[in-house]
Amino acid sequence: MQGFGETIFAEMSALAVRTGAINLGQGFPDEEGPEAVLDAAVEAIRTGANQYPPGPGLPRLREAVSAQRLARYGLSYDPATEVFVTVGATEGIAASVLALAGPGDEVIVFEPYYDSYAAVIALAGAVRRPVTLRPVEGRFTFDPDELRAAVGPRTKAILVNSPHNPAGTVFTRAELEAIAGVCREHDLVAITDEVYEYLTFDDAEHIPLATLDGMRERTVAVSSAGKSFSVTGWKTGWVTAPAPYVRAVQTVKQFLTYAVSAPYQRAAAYALANEIPWVEELRKSLQAKRDRLITGLEAAGFSTYRPQGTYFVQADIRPLGFTDGMALARALPEKAGVVAIPTQVFYDDAAAGAHFVRFAFCKKDEVIDEAVERLARLR
Ligand SMILES: *Cc1c(COP(=O)(O)O)cnc(C)c1O
Repeated sequence: MQGFGETIFAEMSALAVRTGAINLGQGFPDEEGPEAVLDAAVEAIRTGANQYPPGPGLPRLREAVSAQRLARYGLSYDPATEVFVTVGATEGIAASVLALAGPGDEVIVFEPYYDSYAAVIALAGAVRRPVTLRPVEGRFTFDPDELRAAVGPRTKAILVNSPHNPAGTVFTRAELEAIAGVCREHDLVAITDEVYEYLTFDDAEHIPLATLDGMRERTVAVSSAGKSFSVTGWKTGWVTAPAPYVRAVQTVKQFLTYAVSAPYQRAAAYALANEIPWVEELRKSLQAKRDRLITGLEAAGFSTYRPQGTYFVQADIRPLGFTDGMALARALPEKAGVVAIPTQVFYDDAAAGAHFVRFAFCKKDEVIDEAVERLARLR
């Protein structure tokens, strides 16, 4: 793990604390999830959910996940053999990569990529093959030829995150078809990170890759309660996949953490079954916060990319006369009292992301307003 030092989030959050800056770096909401879901967790502790639950997860959560995939996407998974509970999406992705890729194998990722992908591919002894997302007409996308060129004889899997953090892209059906075509042609497994499945804006629609022709049988889908229900500290996630893949993931996961916190599993099952209307309100509120932040960033002199989903806006720093996002992010707390994340840390090709910084908008309106007021001083 040499080369994987302190994460950028730890560095920037420590900087925020030291300087008293407003932290628009790490993406966690500053408002609570649904009251009844919080109560369900408390109730679970009070009513005995305090010992090791079954390794694959509580049946009620696996049933709730199965019901959610069916109702929302028409995807049918057997809760007994095809649904598996993990310590957040992070462990679901880690166990999937460790199960499916070994030393010398290759895993394709779209860059900028979520930081745990690179680390867990390294833990597996595998090699990451990045395909760069680049802005085209206001949104980040990939060149299908570059994707095809990234496949080699050792390629085992492709990691697909949509809605995409940090680019904000929700892959269209055409983009997903291009990915599915490569998977089918080269017999690759797709590991999909769908943690923002509900948090899409305007007319963007989240389409699970597993719904495309021939993909259910080769897709390991990962999601979690954290982003949907504003409980990022609960670290309760799940994997849905054909039974042989679930068995492989389970074989790894049982020795990582064995099982997942029982009270949060009960509460997550409650949330999936009862609080989707709450999530719809969250989605609308986040869309308004996105627009609020973008208006402020543009007024402060950044140029921005309007995300189709997630918690994050990419801002181009060049209109303000800066070129190095890392240097700006390190200086920003002193210069303007705001913390952002330099997007280049999520690329192998750092030059491709050098001039972007990522701001989170999953914050109270007054926090966003104060942040953009401070950023206006940069001019
Ligand atoms: C937040 C996030 C995760 C982690 O989800 P947990 O359930 O907290 O482990 C995974 N992938 C992406 C893209 C995320 O933004």
